[in-house]
Amino acid sequence: MHGYDLLVVGSANADLVVAVERRPAAGETVLGSDLATHPGGKGANQAVAAARLGAATGLLARVGDDAHGRLLLDTQRACGVDTRGVLIGAAPTGVALITVDPSGDNSIVVSPGANARLTPDDVRAAGELMAAAKVVSLQLEIPLETVAEAVTTAGRAGAKVVLNPSPPAPLPVEVLAACDLLVVNEHEARYLLRDAPAAAEGTPEAWAKALLARGPRSVVVTLGAAGALAATGDGTAVRIPSPRVRAVDTTGAGDAFTGALAWRWGAGDELTEAVRFAVRVGATAVTRPGAQQSYPTAAEVAAL
Ligand code: ATP
Repeated sequence: MHGYDLLVVGSANADLVVAVERRPAAGETVLGSDLATHPGGKGANQAVAAARLGAATGLLARVGDDAHGRLLLDTQRACGVDTRGVLIGAAPTGVALITVDPSGDNSIVVSPGANARLTPDDVRAAGELMAAAKVVSLQLEIPLETVAEAVTTAGRAGAKVVLNPSPPAPLPVEVLAACDLLVVNEHEARYLLRDAPAAAEGTPEAWAKALLARGPRSVVVTLGAAGALAATGDGTAVRIPSPRVRAVDTTGAGDAFTGALAWRWGAGDELTEAVRFAVRVGATAVTRPGAQQSYPTAAEVAAL
């Protein structure tokens, strides 16, 4: 059996992007640029990020039996991701329909498609893949019950569980408590703490402390250009600044950060060490356009 440094269980989407002068109002039709099609989805992004850095990476996901699904599979394989866990069919590949105006504002419609058909049964059937992984990394672009099943299966198989609860959704308390590492940005932290306004209005240190009280063993808060905060159950909370870079496109920076972090932390780095590496990966990714195509190799991170 192939051993994985990291197994990502999550979404794979085709991002369909059209630049427009003005985003259309209800009932309106506008003409736009040529269509650009990019591989995306938080799960697929994380897998590519880790594989490009050199991690032995697998992806458990579902795509449609269509051209977008083939594009996503080809991209994963070209980056060295093991796609044995990618199931095909049941619905069209998930897509994000994106219009962007000259000011950079966008409107996005997501059709989850096959991502919404990744079931708890699919996860149970992939128990062998889970058992081969040091770390299993999850996000919330697949059904919550599938995430819950993956958290349980991974824990039982002895893999560490990393969760980025994005996009924010009501998370069962037992799922949060079963995480070894929770990775949140400001928006996700405040959402999870919506029932604790005093903590939600506080500092990132206060968010981390309040989230740790709900059970995850460690919490990392990403802070954009300011870097990230690493907090553990023993009360330590360390801010790790990002290298200063000229950001041109932050799309998918969070996924690059989390893929890199999950890999290094699962490989045995101290949490602060792993975050130090991940902020360098995130910082490199924002200096280039796009999501997956902006993700660096280990040599590029070292050269930053
Ligand atoms: P996104 O949704 O844009 O993918 P996010 O909101 O989940 O990202 P951020 O906190 O914005 O997460 O960014 C994740 C990481 O990427 C940061 O912790 C940092 O390491 C890096 N990063 C993001 N923006 C910048 C920037 N302008 N300069 C340097 N590093 C950045």
